[in-house]
Order: sequence, then C-alpha cells, then structure tokens
Amino acid sequence: MSLQTFFNPKSVAIIGASRQKGKVGYEILVNLVAGGYPGKIYPINPKADEIDGLKVYPDLVSIGETPDLVIVIIPAQLVAGVLEECAKVKAKSVVIITAGFKEVGPEGKKLEEEIVRIARRAGIRFVGPNCLGLISPSHKLNASFGGDLPVPGGIAYISQSGALLAAILDTANANGIGFSSLVSIGNKADIDELDLIEAFGAQRETKVIAGYLENIKDGNAFVREAEQISNKKPILLMKSGGTEAGAKAASSHTGSLAGGEVAYESAFSRAGVIRCDSIKEQFDFAQAFANQPLPKGPKVAVITNAGGPGIMAADAIEQKGLTFAKLSEETKKKLAEKLPAAANVHNPVDVLGDALADRYEFAIDIVLDDPNVDSAIVLLTPQAMTQSKETAEALVKIAKKKGKPVLACFLGAAKVEPGIEVLRKGGIPQYDCPESAVATLYVMSEYVRWRGRPKRVVRLFSVNRRRVESIVERHLRQGLLDIGEAEAKDIIEAYGFATPRGSIATTADQAANIAQQLGYPVVLKIWSPDILHKSDVGGVKVGLRSEQEVKDAFDLMMYRIPKKKPDAHILGVLVQEMVRTSGKEVIIGMHRDPHFGPLMMFGMGGILVEVLKDVSFYLAPLTAEEAKQMLVNTKTYHILKGVRGQEGVDLEAIAEGLQRVSQLVTEFPEIKEMDINPYVVGAPGTTSIAVDARISLEKK
Ligand code: ADP
Ligand code: MG
Repeated sequence: MSLQTFFNPKSVAIIGASRQKGKVGYEILVNLVAGGYPGKIYPINPKADEIDGLKVYPDLVSIGETPDLVIVIIPAQLVAGVLEECAKVKAKSVVIITAGFKEVGPEGKKLEEEIVRIARRAGIRFVGPNCLGLISPSHKLNASFGGDLPVPGGIAYISQSGALLAAILDTANANGIGFSSLVSIGNKADIDELDLIEAFGAQRETKVIAGYLENIKDGNAFVREAEQISNKKPILLMKSGGTEAGAKAASSHTGSLAGGEVAYESAFSRAGVIRCDSIKEQFDFAQAFANQPLPKGPKVAVITNAGGPGIMAADAIEQKGLTFAKLSEETKKKLAEKLPAAANVHNPVDVLGDALADRYEFAIDIVLDDPNVDSAIVLLTPQAMTQSKETAEALVKIAKKKGKPVLACFLGAAKVEPGIEVLRKGGIPQYDCPESAVATLYVMSEYVRWRGRPKRVVRLFSVNRRRVESIVERHLRQGLLDIGEAEAKDIIEAYGFATPRGSIATTADQAANIAQQLGYPVVLKIWSPDILHKSDVGGVKVGLRSEQEVKDAFDLMMYRIPKKKPDAHILGVLVQEMVRTSGKEVIIGMHRDPHFGPLMMFGMGGILVEVLKDVSFYLAPLTAEEAKQMLVNTKTYHILKGVRGQEGVDLEAIAEGLQRVSQLVTEFPEIKEMDINPYVVGAPGTTSIAVDARISLEKK
C-alpha cells in the first residue's frame, strides 16, 4: 500500500479536537488551519458544536463521508474504539498522537497490541502512537503540534523522537530549510522507518531521506531495502543508543569486541546509508544533496576573497582525502587576463579583498568551466567593499548553469546576512566554516563512489557441509553449546582451512608417543570443554623438544590447572605439531548480531587482540572486495603488507579465510559466535594455518 494519502489527503478528521488553547487537540487544529490546508477539515468532539468557526461533528460516522486522514488525540483507552469506528467508515490512514502505550509499561503495551490487531484486521495503516504528527509542506498539511509549517523542499525527515523533530522544525524554519515531509514515528507500532524510507524513496519531491533513529526494527530487511533506495537517493541517519545484546555475555573475542554500534555501522555502510553525528552535520549534508547536483569526482576548487579561509579550506580538502583541483593552463590564463595582478590564479583562487560581485562572478564562471574541477566552494569574508548580496546573486545565477555542486561559505554575521538570504532562496547551501563545506563535499563524493561500486558477488567455495552438519547436530542433541578446539578445527577444515596435525592424549606416555609421531617440536594444550581461553590457565605450552619435556609439561598441566579451575572437566591434552612459519598471528571471527545477523571480524590476533582492539567488522556474507576492505580498515594492515623492508604476508589467504568463515556462518545459523585465533599467515605462497579455533552454538 502506498502511503501517499498520509501526505496528500483530501480531507482530515481530528478526533479529539478541542476548544481549549494549549491542549494538543486545539494546537493541531490551529496548525492545520494556519498552514493553509486546502482540503476539508472535520473536527470531532461530542461536546462541542464549533471550534474557531469550524463545524464540529460528534463522531466519524456523522461526517457522512470517509476522511482520507484521521488524526487521533484522545486518551489511550479510547483509541481502540476509534479504530473500530475508522474500520466502520473505511478510513485507512490514521495518525495516533496519543501517548500512554508501550512507553508506559505492560498495561500500555497491551493497549498497543490491541490497536495493532484492530488495524491489521481492518487494513488500516497508522503512524504512532505517542508521536508529534506529520507534516507535508507542499500539500500545506501540518498535522502536528511540532511547530509552524516549513517551506517545501527536497528533504524528507523521519524522527523517532518527537521533541527532536520540534527542535529541527524550529531550526529549519529559522534558516529557511525546505522539506517534502516530516514524520514523527513515535512507538512505530505499525508504520516504521522502513515503510517511510520506501515511501520517500518512491516520492518524486523527496531528494534526500534524513532521520533520527534509536533502533531499527528489522535489521535484515533494513539493509536490503535501504541499499535499494540508496542507489536512487541518499539516506542520512543519526542513530543513538547501542544494540542491547551487543557485548552482553560474549565469551568469544569477537563477541566482546563487537558490542554496541558496530553492527549498525556495518549495516549502514553496506546499505550506503550516510551516518551523521549531529543535527548540524545532518542538515549540512542534506541541504547539499537536496539542492545541488552530485560531483562527478573528488576535485575541488576554492574561490575566496581572503587568503586565510582559502588555506583553511585547502587543508580540510587535503585532510579529508579529497583532491585539491589543479586548474588548467587555459583557466589560469583567462583568470590572469582580467583579475588584478595581485590576485592568485591558482587554486585557491584569490579574487582579493576589494572584489565586488562582478569579479567573483567572472572567476566562478571560468573556474567552474574547467574540466579539472568537479565542485567548488565559494568563500566570502565581509570586507569594506564586499557586496555579499550581489555576490550571492551572481553565484546562484552561474551555479545553476554548470551542473557541478557549488557550496558557499560566507563568513561573518550581520554583514553577510543579506547574501545568505539570497543563497538560501537560490538553493546554494551555506556553511558556517570551510571545514563543514569540505566535509559535505567529501560525503557527496563518497556517496557517488558507493553508487558506482561493483555489483556484489559472493564467492561460493566447495566445502564438506555434511561433516559440519553432523558435528553441529551432535553437539546440539547433547546440549553442548561450546565446541572446543579439536572439533572446531574439524569444522573449519571442512571449510577449507589448514590446521596443525595433532591428537588427544590422556596420559603422559600417550602424549610422548604422539609427539614422537608428529616430530619435535610440539605444542601441548589443555583439552576441556570448560576452558575457553587455554593460555589464561597455563594450558598452552609451546616449543617442547623432547619426550621428557612433553611428559613434564603434561604432568605440570594436570597438577596446576585443576587447582586453578577446580570445576573444569579435564579430558586430557591436545598434542599438536608446532607451526613454524615466520608468520603473523591474525584473528578471524564472527558474532551473530540479534538485529543484523552474522557480523564478521578481522584483526591482529594472538593473545593481545582484546588489548589492542585493532579490529574491523562487516556483515556476512562477504564479497572478495569487502573481505579485503576489512583488512585495509585496520592498522595491522600496514604491518601485514610489510613495513621497512620486512616482507609482507599472504593477504589473499586472509581475505579468503574471511570469505570461507562468512560462508560457514551463513550456511549454519546455529553458529552463534566463533573465533579462529590465531590464524597464522606467512609469506605469499606458504600455507596459512588455523592454530586455534572455537565455536559456540545456539538452538534454532
Ligand atoms: P588460547 O587462545 O586458548 O589461549 P591458543 O591455542 O590460541 O590458545 O594458543 C595460544 C598461543 O600459543 C597462540 O596464540 C600461539 O601463539 C601459540 N600456539 C598455540 N598453538 C600453536 C602451534 N600449534 N604452533 C605454534 N604456536 C602455537
Ligand atoms: Mg587462541
């Protein structure tokens, strides 16, 4: 169902319209009227005949027609009854402003479930409850008590916080920022962020979707749909609060590092969603996306009437990794012909402090024509003769013709205000400092890069799935949720990993025999389902070179570990071939996020992983590019690549390992967490070895 009737209704009924100033039921009616809503308004209140000259109806039925949109502002206990009434008159679109539902506790939750049930049955869609309402400026619809109707524009806004929406409205109205719609989603019992993102994605007047969210209802659906929409228009989100289940009760390294926001970060970057850290930043970005074309590339030119701000912009461009445009010879020649001799014809182009509007106009025109320029920032400081208004007019006029993004940064206050007013009306975003303008261009060019990304292709390796199935099934049947090193290695071997040779011993003699067969040196590791981190209890002894050393190590472990962990059930030791690459130890892990599913982790491994925390995350299933990007996103990458004459390691092997684990955890949703730590990787061409692994399961 399209949500279009919500934004462009022919008639609106207000259930709970009130005569009393200050009451929500009055303010909404007043806002609707004051906004100039052209459709029919039906205030409903059994105790009134007339409010501010509008005829009042006792109930929905007595209107005699079906209102397109119904706004509900009566006490929570009465809302279910009103929805029944909506069903009777076949009203399908409802905004429930009323609070006192899920947010107040179990009683309210029950009420909320009831209204959802009624709505589903009757085919009613509703916004709220516990919200501020909705606004659609191009249809002059202000069905909210959030503030005055803003001007129409290209930004659609979704807010999970009503109060924040009120603040945004106030700020936006003071700065002339235009919107296609604003919706306060409240408890989002029915219509949620995803419904709206889809609706706005299809709406022609919406150029950018922005929002503030505290949580996302369905992580997987969100990633899928948001990625589709991001291909057409940018989605800018502010997100507060972490995933509750994040770091809680995590026994793996990956689990304990994956807490909080990591899954959201990955989901957003996968879906092309641009994350914003503040309202200011969000509107800095949104205004540019809504009013300016996208840049074709990263090359930025700066035009200024003062050296200082020009250098600030240049520094910021450098820092962000954008390209400071190199103007062509022809451009420089043209500029030099007309600009005063003291002017700088290189980027940043300095038109000098005495520049009037015409000099700016000339320079902007020439610079924007340069094929080496993808976008421009125009800086202006209010000096004695500066014409802020006229310069803004020239800027608006020229920018329209060039098809390249132009951002303005008029520095100052009262003296530049007339210019800023012109910029606003002309759709040139204005920034209060060069850094903000640069940050915006950076986000725009990243978005362009994202849109041009190669199609995601997930490689499928041929694996021994049956083998894993039988191990997993047996563990689940026996209620064993932790799979220790020995069998975890069987699992990853079935998915193509090499592991050290070795077997289990229960006596010192047996251990020595196995060592003999493997060849020295060997490693001894405690084998117990109750010991997850073996080194912590002295359960790993490496570099054992003789029968005597093996036997001594065995006896020592059997003596010491039960003292440290009296409750642990000790089955024996694992005698293992000692891996002797000059390799580096990395970690490959996975933690299943409750909202977004399997979250892969990569980082510097070994026993220091949780101290160094140099890790990166991404949602499975991974493509080859995504796996490589995970490596690049860590500092470890520089070490692995080889520093200062040291040879690098087999990066391909790590990327492939990540993809293989990604396939494993995608094919086995029972795997809740896992770590391969360390995965020892050597020089390209050598075999990388999974030296330790652990897997934990959950019942599906
Ligand atoms: P845990 O993580 O449970 O403490 P590991 O099996 O990861 O136990 O062993 C701890 C460290 O011992 C590893 O990070 C690695 O440096 C070293 N190690 C363990 N097994 C081997 C092996 N077979 N060859 C070489 N080094 C090993
Ligand atoms: Mg380990």
